[in-house]
Amino acid sequence: MNPTFSRVAHCRVCNSKRVLDLGVRRNYYLANLDQTVPVSYAICQDCHFIFQGEYVGDEYLNHYYRQSPMLRRKEATAFEKDQNERQCEFLARHVALKDHKVLEIGAHAGAFLCHLYQRFGCTAYFEELSDEARAVLASQEGLHDFRALEDEKKVDVVILRHVLEHIFDLESFLNYVRSILADGGSLFIEVPDWTHFDAHTDPFIFEHLNQFNTAGLVHLLRRTGWQTEALEKSIHPDDPATPNRVQRIVARPTSLPPPGDAAIADSFRAFAAVQYDGWKTAINNLLAGEAAGKSIALYPASHLTFEALTESRLGQAKVLGMFDIDAKKQGREILGLKVYPPEELKVQQPDFILIFTMGYEREIRESFAALGLTSRVISITELVSNSWGSA
Ligand SMILES: [Zn+2]
Repeated sequence: MNPTFSRVAHCRVCNSKRVLDLGVRRNYYLANLDQTVPVSYAICQDCHFIFQGEYVGDEYLNHYYRQSPMLRRKEATAFEKDQNERQCEFLARHVALKDHKVLEIGAHAGAFLCHLYQRFGCTAYFEELSDEARAVLASQEGLHDFRALEDEKKVDVVILRHVLEHIFDLESFLNYVRSILADGGSLFIEVPDWTHFDAHTDPFIFEHLNQFNTAGLVHLLRRTGWQTEALEKSIHPDDPATPNRVQRIVARPTSLPPPGDAAIADSFRAFAAVQYDGWKTAINNLLAGEAAGKSIALYPASHLTFEALTESRLGQAKVLGMFDIDAKKQGREILGLKVYPPEELKVQQPDFILIFTMGYEREIRESFAALGLTSRVISITELVSNSWGSA
């Protein structure tokens, strides 16, 4: 069988047509097929994604992988265990793993899945193209063949360690991955990092159709319905995948429209109506309800306090003043209200104190308790959080 070359005329990361031939050619001798295959490389002028400029075709690539018996040692080596620790340390910091369902696509001999099974009690599924690999994986304690899963094929975490660089149709593949993810699920990716052109960048190899830089990878994910939640880079000389720079990403599905879609403005407006306007509506409701006619103190004298005064009906309520620990503000008059030191609250004994800062809330509440105040204290954080609760 011979490759059926087709020129790749667009960038599979950002969809740009501004693709440049790099003038880099390799003649790959493929020992398993006893064939030499010429490959050229191209770069996207817009996102700097580097890729094989001619695709050898799905059929040829599948043929290549079928005829490519890999070294698969059932027992993980010390170096693999070390790699699993490093990858897991990142993953576990951002994703709940305990007793969750995980799937690794391209699970090799299963070292990483065994680690997740033993360390976190994960129900671990594998997917592999080769029958030989699936036989090795099926013989590992705690690992299950994803193909044999009969109930709903959904998992909490999909793992793609050094897989994405081998995939031609990235969009379809990432859509498939999203379709098997349970609600609230996460995707973990590790690939070589081609963000820098330096001594820690991988060599070209036949199997790697894609050379991702970080901005491009994040963009590709965003374009295919994912949001990047965490990212790290690592260079480890003894890493079994590569001694060069790798990038790790945790991503989750997002319902926001992709870049380029004007619907993003509506998405933001819907968010802003809850996050930025909801608390002012809540204040108006409070003033019309339980706080009607009651005395109210505002704390501190800063921008959210001013926003509340200018954009809610607070200005027409029985407001005693603003209270702030900043001596530079005390004694001044702002928006028709006097700024007092907090100790004055003891004298005025307001029915309500509204806290209009998102930081220091606990410290502020403790200072009120220390003053012996019995006022009802409501914070903007509570009001915002209630807005989401009723949204
Ligand atoms: Zn591009």
